[in-house]
Parts: sequence; C-alpha cells; structure tokens
Amino acid sequence: MNSLLLRQLRKYLGISSEIDLETFLNGFDEVNKKKIQGFINSVDLSYVDMERASILNTRSVEISTKELSEVNALLRIELQKNKQIINNLINTAQILNKDFNFNYENISAEELAEKISHLAKENLIIQEKHKIAKLEAENANKAKSEFLANMSHELRTPLNAVIGYSDLLRMTELESSQKSYVELIHLSGNNLLSMINDVLDISKIEAGKLELETIQIDVIQLINEVKDILRFAAEQKGIELNFNIKENIPRWIIGDSIRLKQILINLVNNAIKFTNKGKVELSLIFNQSIENEIGLFTFSVQDTGIGITPEQKKKLFSKFSQADSSTTRKFGGTGLGLAISASLVEKMGSSIELDSESGKGSKFYFTLKLTYIKEEMNIPSSETKKNLQVGQNNSNQTIEGDTKKQFSILIVDDNEINLSLLNSMIYKITKNSSIHKARNGIEGFEQYLKYKPDIIFMDIQMPEMDGYEATKKIRESEKVSNSHVNIIALTAGALKDDEKKCLEAGMDSYLKKPIDFKLLKAYLLNSLK
Ligand code: ADP
Repeated sequence: MNSLLLRQLRKYLGISSEIDLETFLNGFDEVNKKKIQGFINSVDLSYVDMERASILNTRSVEISTKELSEVNALLRIELQKNKQIINNLINTAQILNKDFNFNYENISAEELAEKISHLAKENLIIQEKHKIAKLEAENANKAKSEFLANMSHELRTPLNAVIGYSDLLRMTELESSQKSYVELIHLSGNNLLSMINDVLDISKIEAGKLELETIQIDVIQLINEVKDILRFAAEQKGIELNFNIKENIPRWIIGDSIRLKQILINLVNNAIKFTNKGKVELSLIFNQSIENEIGLFTFSVQDTGIGITPEQKKKLFSKFSQADSSTTRKFGGTGLGLAISASLVEKMGSSIELDSESGKGSKFYFTLKLTYIKEEMNIPSSETKKNLQVGQNNSNQTIEGDTKKQFSILIVDDNEINLSLLNSMIYKITKNSSIHKARNGIEGFEQYLKYKPDIIFMDIQMPEMDGYEATKKIRESEKVSNSHVNIIALTAGALKDDEKKCLEAGMDSYLKKPIDFKLLKAYLLNSLK
C-alpha cells in the first residue's frame, strides 16, 4: 500500500497495518465492506499513479536541463568557430585588399557582410580571369606542340634529301677530302635527324599523344641491336662495352620494342659520351616471376665516367637540362634524351633510378613488369610485326651485287626532290628495272593501270588525291583483276597513327622518311625475289 495512504489511514482511522485494516473492515456489513475496500484500493492506485507522474516529471526536467547544457556547449563551439571564420575572412580580406583596414570588433554585422560579399564578387572575377588565363596557356601549349610536330615533319622532308643524297654520294668515286666532307654532311644530317626526332617525341609527350605498342619482342635481338649501333662509338673512345645478360632471361617479352630500344640507346650512348676511360656495361636481370606470366626485368647501364653530383641529379630528368650548362661545356647534346627516356619508362609503369658518385661513375636503372612468353611459342618477332618497319630485321644483312632482273617500279610523290632521290636510290639497287613516276594519287592510279608495276612507293600527303585514297582505288580494281601489288607507304610523320592508317588503307608496309638506303635495299631485294 502506498506510504502516503498508509500515513493518512493511521492519522484519521488509527490503522497502521494490513491486519488493522482487516479488523476495521470486518466491522462493516459485506456490502459496505466491499465499498470501503474498493475506495481504499482506488485511492491507493491514484497515489501510485501520482508518484509515477511526479518521478517522470522530475526526470524530464532533468533530461531537458542536460540537453540544454549540451546544446549550449555546441552553440559555444559553433560561436567560437564562427569567430574564427570571421577572423580568417578578415585576415584574407586584408591580404587581398590593403584598404580593407578596420576594426571588426566595432563593425556591424551588415557592414561586415557587405564588405565580404564585395570581396566574394571580386574573388569570382579573379577566378574567372584565372580560368581564362589557364585556358589560354593550355591552348598556347597545344599550339606549341602542334607547331613542333608540324615543324619536325617539315624539317624531315629536306633532311630526307640531305641524308639520302649524301648516302648516294658516299658510294661514288671520291677523292679523300671529298669523301670526308660527304661523311661529315651525312653524319650531321643524321645528328640533326635524331634531334628532330627528340623534339617530335617531346612534343608528342607534352600533347599527350605518345602511345606505346604492345608487340612480341626478342630481348636478345633487341640488346644485340643496341650493341651494333653503339659498339663503334665505344671503340672510338677506347672504352670497353659489355653486355651482361643473365642466363635465366626469358627470350620473348611483350612490350614496345622501338621505345625500349630508344631508352637503352639513350642510356648507353650517354654512358659512352660521359666516360673517358674504363667501361660501360648494360645488364639485364630477370628478377622473379610475380604472377603466371609477368616477370620483373631490371635494365641497368653502368659506367666508370665523370659521374653526377646530387645537385646535378635534381634537374637531370627535366627537359633541356644538362649537368654542365656552361657555355664552355665539353659535350654536345640537347638535354632531351633523359627527359624522353624518363617519360617513356614512366609510361611503361616504372621510373628511372640513378646511383652516381662524382668522378667515379653512374648507374641508371629501371625495372619493368613485362609479360614473358614461353620459348616453345617460338614465333619470330618479325612475323608478328610483319607489316611494320620493313626491312629493319634485315638491315644488318649485306647483299652483294645488284639484282639483274627487270622490274617495274612506280613512285608516287608530289615532291620533286623526293621523287628523284628515291629514283636514284632504286636505280642504284636495281639498274635494270623501269621506274615510273607520278606526282599525285590520280596520276599514280593511272600509271598503276598502265604499267601494272611490281611494287609501288606511295607518299601519303599529296594534292588532288592522297596516298590512302589512291591505295584504296588500286585495291578496288585488284578485286576485278585478282592480283596484288606491293604498296609501300612513304611516311614523314613517324606517328603511330600513320602506320595504322596505312595498313587500314590497304598498304602492305611503310618506310619512314628519310629513307635509309640499307633498309630500302634489303627490302627491295627481299620483295623482288
Ligand atoms: P644530352 O646528353 O643530349 O645532353 P640527356 O637528357 O640524355 O641529354 O642528358 C642530360 C644530361 O645528363 C647530360 O647533358 C649530362 O650532363 C648528364 N648525364 C646523362 N648521362 C650521364 C652519365 N652517364 N654520366 C654523367 N652525366 C650524364
């Protein structure tokens, strides 16, 4: 029974326990006893309810006080934050605008809001100007890259003549001074060409247009090619040139052979250039097989040369930078090679590392994750890449004597010098053949119908009808005659796209300008067998 009710029963009726209540109730008849009992019970329940309500009330007051203090604390934090924000805004405003000099403690909220909104507007204008300037800079950069790509393309055309004709001249009877002049012209032409190629590569990298190929590569052959190209330079300086290839190297890998070769040539060439005595070593280590068909290949080029200081190292991989930038520097070069190699290796998913000590030598190295192919899949890489880079694999082959057989050869090119250069080169290789010339695609197609040549050299960019169109027309007409003429594209752009477009248009292969005499010879003799 509720304690309050018990107290009242005690006070007014003298009942202090359940037994007293029982005795008290027994003094009534049954009807009244029940009524009184019911009354006492309902009062008891009311008291219980009342107490429960009071407890709830107290609790809710307690809870709301707690919540209130929590909210208060949060508000205080917010307030603090806002003060901080206002402080920051004012600091920023003062930095942005020297005239924004006022004591914000005394400024009204409206004034502050107005000033800040004014600054926000100015900020928007600045952002807009910044956006426009960025866009202009990007456009200028794109224009620069396009200009460089076009320039390189244009420069290659006259170089084609310089290298080609000096190559032909070298093969004629000359007295010794004339011979050395021609050698110099030829060497300078080739040096200029490699610089133009570097500029073209850099502009392609900057324009985001550089793409890698994935073809099957014979690593051993690739290293041998690097060796062949650089052996002479090392011999001339009296430097030992070693190639250290571990025996467990899988011979076939998948990657971009031209670019990989370019990187290795650059690194070995630099090593020879910057080494006066001692040796240069190119090593290839096959680290481990990390997945089923992926392996880690570490290429490293180590020399005993002049070395690189930590200071020089910092800027070495940037464009146009050389360790020795003084006007009295001993070594030539454009300072593009390492920047290009670094970008290429990066595109291959790795980076070039350098360990070097000034005066002692340098070691450039990088590790590529490559797919290696089991030896039994012994497909020659020249087969996989059969249509590309014609003659490249035969370039070391020396074929004595010119072919005696008579062939009909058609050259289609709008540039007179290119026409007569290619004509002279072909004549030198196969004196008995009849050579026909056409100056655009339309003429080319007409002469194809007239002479039914064995081979066609087709320039790409020509007035009236370009090389792609002319090739398509020839292929169409061959469907009727059920024949196939070898069409070799003559490309100057050296872009990956060119090669794809040539093959799509139905050409069999392509030769890059400037045309290498040895490549042309190997190719002609091969295809005219
Ligand atoms: P380039 O050789 O055409 O100047 P690179 O980008 O290939 O351009 O090289 C940049 C510079 O890095 C070189 O000029 C040279 O100072 C330095 N360098 C590169 N390789 C070596 C090396 N093996 N030993 C010493 N210095 C080197």
